[in-house]
Amino acid sequence: MGKVTHAKVVIIGSGAAGYTAAIYAARAMLKPVLIQGIQPGGQLTITTDVENYPGFADVIQGPWLMEQMQKQAEHVGTAIVSDHASRVDLAHRPFRIECDSGERYLADTIIIATGAQARWLELPSEQKFKGYGVSACATCDGFFYRNKKVIVVGGGNTAVEEALFLTNFASGVTVVHRRDAFRAEKILQDRLFRNPKISVIWESVLEEVAGGENPLKVKGVVLRNVKTGALTERAADGVFIAIGHTPASELFAGQVEMKPSGYIKTAPFSTATSVPGVFAAGDVTDDVYRQAVTAAGQGCMAALEAERFLAARHEAEPAIAAE
Ligand code: NAP
Repeated sequence: MGKVTHAKVVIIGSGAAGYTAAIYAARAMLKPVLIQGIQPGGQLTITTDVENYPGFADVIQGPWLMEQMQKQAEHVGTAIVSDHASRVDLAHRPFRIECDSGERYLADTIIIATGAQARWLELPSEQKFKGYGVSACATCDGFFYRNKKVIVVGGGNTAVEEALFLTNFASGVTVVHRRDAFRAEKILQDRLFRNPKISVIWESVLEEVAGGENPLKVKGVVLRNVKTGALTERAADGVFIAIGHTPASELFAGQVEMKPSGYIKTAPFSTATSVPGVFAAGDVTDDVYRQAVTAAGQGCMAALEAERFLAARHEAEPAIAAE
């Protein structure tokens, strides 16, 4: 039986929302516990250049930014736990959290900051070649495509950034987008259109990934024009899927109110969920802005709201009392 720890605030997730919530909760002397999850640092650890996080005139790196946030959270008194929350019970108070290691936490308040994960098209051929030429992370896998040809599927910021990043390695990058215009920021689009290594195939979707069996290896794609239905084949060594994200909210399914898309519902201008004392911040709840800086802002709100919730309930016990 693992150790049981009682905390006033348990934060689940270690992206910009989680660390910011930790910094505020720790500075409010709430001695928060932060459970990092499988990908410590969250989505920013698989990006490279960050140009839009305020306070840095020079381009900074996503992993570096998250390291700084973690250090700051630790420095002000957060107990950071390298573990993954596998079960949560929000029906009893204090709330109960069980981790993969067997350790358990009793929490007077919980801040859900579990973020979001890359979406897949769910084509059988995409799943078959996942890890063998099909990827959802250019910064993780781009290096393998030196002087090779790659396809990027999508039309948002992620797709355009991944296409630009891949030009550092690949000899040619083709972006396949289902509409005739990108939704990515104009500054990124300008960079993409100016890059001689990148071409765009509009109004088309990925129908199939084609490849060899032994060893498993991507050799090309079949694309379908959404207007005409025409199928075309194209040679490629790698396929990067960049079609958005799904909130990591399964752990809380049936326990807090969610939108049909899985994003956790919060009260207007608040991080309060349908369960009093449970707050949600960042990409797990935000299907509109989804930026590092907005996630950080919501993390701050969640910590302030948790503090007010605890004060209203006259909680007075010291924060972490190991049982
Ligand atoms: P996104 O903005 O939701 O874009 C997803 C793209 O994939 C859209 O172009 C969409 O097409 C396309 N798509 C979705 N489902 C598809 C399907 N089944 N088949 C083909 N195409 C499909 O997602 P994102 O680019 O990952 O960005 C997520 C959020 O993070 C955004 O708010 C973005 O601004 C933010 N972000 C910011 C930065 C930055 O500021 N530097 C970097 C990365 C991400 P449609 O356009 O037709 O809908």
